[in-house]
Amino acid sequence: MTYQIPRGTADLLPDDSPAWQALEQHLKDFCYLYDFREIRTPIFEHTNVFKRENDSSDMVNKEMYTFTLPGSKTSLTIRPEGTAGVVRSFVENKLYASPDLPAKLYYLGPMARHERPQKGRLRIFNQFGVESLGAKSPYADAEVMVLAYSILKSLGLSDIRILLNTLGDDESRSAYRQALKDYFAPYVQDLCGDCKRRYEQNPLRILDCKVDHDLDCMKHAPKMSDYLNEESRTYFRTVCEILDRLEIPYDVEEDLVRGLDYYTHTVFEIVSVNREMGAQSTVLAGGRYDNLIPYFGGPEGMSGIGWALGLERLLIALQAEGISLQEAAGVDCYVMVLDEQARLFAFEVLTALRAAGYQADMDFQGRGFKGQFKAADRAHAKHVLIIGTREFEQQAVTVKNVAAQTQETVQAGALIEYLDGQEAAGEHGHHHEGHEEGCQCEACRGE
Ligand code: ATP
Ligand code: MG
Repeated sequence: MTYQIPRGTADLLPDDSPAWQALEQHLKDFCYLYDFREIRTPIFEHTNVFKRENDSSDMVNKEMYTFTLPGSKTSLTIRPEGTAGVVRSFVENKLYASPDLPAKLYYLGPMARHERPQKGRLRIFNQFGVESLGAKSPYADAEVMVLAYSILKSLGLSDIRILLNTLGDDESRSAYRQALKDYFAPYVQDLCGDCKRRYEQNPLRILDCKVDHDLDCMKHAPKMSDYLNEESRTYFRTVCEILDRLEIPYDVEEDLVRGLDYYTHTVFEIVSVNREMGAQSTVLAGGRYDNLIPYFGGPEGMSGIGWALGLERLLIALQAEGISLQEAAGVDCYVMVLDEQARLFAFEVLTALRAAGYQADMDFQGRGFKGQFKAADRAHAKHVLIIGTREFEQQAVTVKNVAAQTQETVQAGALIEYLDGQEAAGEHGHHHEGHEEGCQCEACRGE
């Protein structure tokens, strides 16, 4: 019997977790700047949270992990996306009643979709997303887009493009929908099976089809922009004007309709145009939804906007541009125990180091000098602390400063003070960032 991870899923192993943690911290720091606060919702919801009436999307119709436990009638679905659960919670907890709207929320966590696994396409993947709920203003649209663009830029990505479009309000959308139905009526039999379904449920999504993309009838299909009413046109123009003013570059793509059915007005994607990205080039995607909050029982006319990015795809995009997020840093101290009698004393020293804020580790395998020294080296220890018979008898520690190549035996009671002193001196020499000549901080004065 062997055990293997399910297809399309991945373990995050400790060598890779520093990059993930750095990325997640970066995303959270940006949300803090923009005053977006975290929300956590369950990883499964009642199926009807995701499977809404008349939804034509592949995600809802083909990709959901839905289950019912034996003896239960309740159908549950592991979340395939974040927005529906967040809106469900926003309504259920009456966050819409706050005097301060929009509610600006972010979430981070795994999503599940039963897709064909490929590079950048998994069955369990991680999304980071934001939602701005309860204020319909082009400035709210611009705010989430500026946040998205700033995050990606600040990570160092340069090969990125914002694709932008509007689907208009309900009136414009249904006029356009009718125009598409009339237009595609003679071609329905030539379209793929999915598009035959889309023709009935949501003809806009025919334009998004990867299978029928090159058919002649696609090229001459009516354009959304010809069916926008005055209000929708003005709304979109204002969003564009704000982005222009902030010098955020974007391309209006009239074919961009997005994979989920709930969008109205603004829709956008950020794609990586780096060659190595292959087919999965969309890193981030989102849009406005006028009908979702009322659908879940919230106030009529209340609208929201949000986006989500795939962390795995973002990491691929960063790698494609040669950007690495976090070098493996070394531990501050590695404690070597060279006499088994001294183990308890060494463990006490180790605990004291950690209590004083030094990242520290020691040997747990009872290895000899050579084995432990190599372990300290692999841990990139800044200080190697040696405890042998002599040190044990004197309740002392021999501290080897790896970079400075110095070595000194220090009483255990004075160890922390000694290390603090070394730290202050060492820091000043090279990377005491932000400290200029004449700086009056403790470390600089002590020079
Ligand atoms: P695609 O067209 O690539 O299937 P989508 O329209 O289904 O994407 P969204 O639901 O908008 O994607 O999700 C937003 C982001 O989440 C995507 O841009 C992508 O970065 C990421 N994402 C979506 N599905 C997956 C997946 N199966 N594996 C990894 N990341 C994904
Ligand atoms: Mg998809």
